[in-house]
Amino acid sequence: MSAPVRTRFAPSPTGDLHVGGLRTALFQWAFVKANGGELVLRIEDTDQSRYVEGSVESICEGLRWLGIEWDEGPEVGGPHGPYVQSERLEKYHAVAAELQARGRAYRCFCTAERLAQLRKDQQKDGLAPGYDGRCRQIPPEEAEERARTEPSVLRFRMDRTGVTTLPDLIRGDVTFQNSLQDDFVILKSDGFPTYHLAMLVDDHDMEITHVVRAEEWLASGPKHLQLYEAMDWPAPHFAHLPVLVDSKGRKLSKREADVAALDYRDRGYLPEAMLNFLAFLGWSLDDHTTHITAGEFARVFTLDRVVPNPAFFDVERLDALNGHYIRALAPEAWREHVAGWLDRDLPANIPRPLDADLVTAVAPLLQERVTRLDEVAGLVRFLFALPDYPAELLTERIGGDTGLAARTLEAAIAAVEGVAPEAWAPEPVEAALRSLQDALDLKLRKFVSVLYVAIMGAPRGIPLFDSVALLGRDEALDRLRAARAKLA
Ligand code: GLU
Repeated sequence: MSAPVRTRFAPSPTGDLHVGGLRTALFQWAFVKANGGELVLRIEDTDQSRYVEGSVESICEGLRWLGIEWDEGPEVGGPHGPYVQSERLEKYHAVAAELQARGRAYRCFCTAERLAQLRKDQQKDGLAPGYDGRCRQIPPEEAEERARTEPSVLRFRMDRTGVTTLPDLIRGDVTFQNSLQDDFVILKSDGFPTYHLAMLVDDHDMEITHVVRAEEWLASGPKHLQLYEAMDWPAPHFAHLPVLVDSKGRKLSKREADVAALDYRDRGYLPEAMLNFLAFLGWSLDDHTTHITAGEFARVFTLDRVVPNPAFFDVERLDALNGHYIRALAPEAWREHVAGWLDRDLPANIPRPLDADLVTAVAPLLQERVTRLDEVAGLVRFLFALPDYPAELLTERIGGDTGLAARTLEAAIAAVEGVAPEAWAPEPVEAALRSLQDALDLKLRKFVSVLYVAIMGAPRGIPLFDSVALLGRDEALDRLRAARAKLA
């Protein structure tokens, strides 16, 4: 029987979880689920200078937001721990010593200045940048002696002849010229391993069978394969996921887009929409399926349906999906979302708890209309607090026609007064306001913006007749009269 599929999500705790990282984790999760395997979460914190307090928590939170659970790792433990690299230093030192003993690693004493100069010279001569191997020659005993008093790093001795071929599960065989490789650092002068060494040791110890990671690591493939070979360890399978790009085809970056995964939660995207969106970034089920649930994705996912080409991070598509999932929510679930977001976003001076009946009444009016949950409060705030707007807004959509605005408001006041308090309900309100078309001899859309502004403080919003009905007769009349007064 072959070993169970095991893969790992290995973020560096350098800040917020990136949407690209979340997509990687999602594919890894689906891959292990579809194969009855296990997902390991490992924190790669060997670059201590880039460590950001709180990142691990926010990474875990981001994964859980989408429903991604890990079988081993921080917060859940497991038999291969610790799962934080800074707590595994002895393991890296042991393997580094073994590589030295095998003649595949050596100490390097070159200073930062020398390396900078080397890079400059290589640039000038049009050569590929890389370490020139100067310290390779130092006899090991002498190097150990010097290392007692001089700062040094440990470098891996790359075989620079021939080629290295990486069989990638997404791209097929990718072949690299070894002559373009250099002796890279595996242990830094501060005693911390670099990514390459730490990854080698951990993936081996943690019995990782499949390394599924971002495309940016593909170029490091030859280093990793040679490391495995040097240790006589079988290499895992590799799959490099396509990069995410913006509409201009550039790698998604903080400058161009919102890349923090949890910002999407905080801006009112539903996790099911985000999951559906990310699932199709580089993967497809067939040529027509566009909607997928977490459960189905985790059942049908295969790496061979991932394509190598960059995937367009199309926020419009995400918006459309979010709208789709909002409309699909059961009324009660939707009401709970609305209540939560109103509580979060309405100004603090509106007393809490909010009027529950009003929330229940307005929720259905929103479900057909919003794309993101952070739009909710802005759309219905007028029901909880008096809107404040400049008089000009009343005529903004009717070409500044103050006369028409005044006539509209006067007719509306009369029409609403004509609805008896005991008959107050959406239908009579609608009939009354529609009668304005005859009174003004104009189509509703020619003047309705005036009423929107008077009632809601904005020229458009949720349905007007329902809103007027929800406000109540006295409040609606007050607002219409206040608007009329503003025009004077
Ligand atoms: N720590 C690396 C990163 O955050 C992990 C890459 C990998 O999956 O091996 O990009």
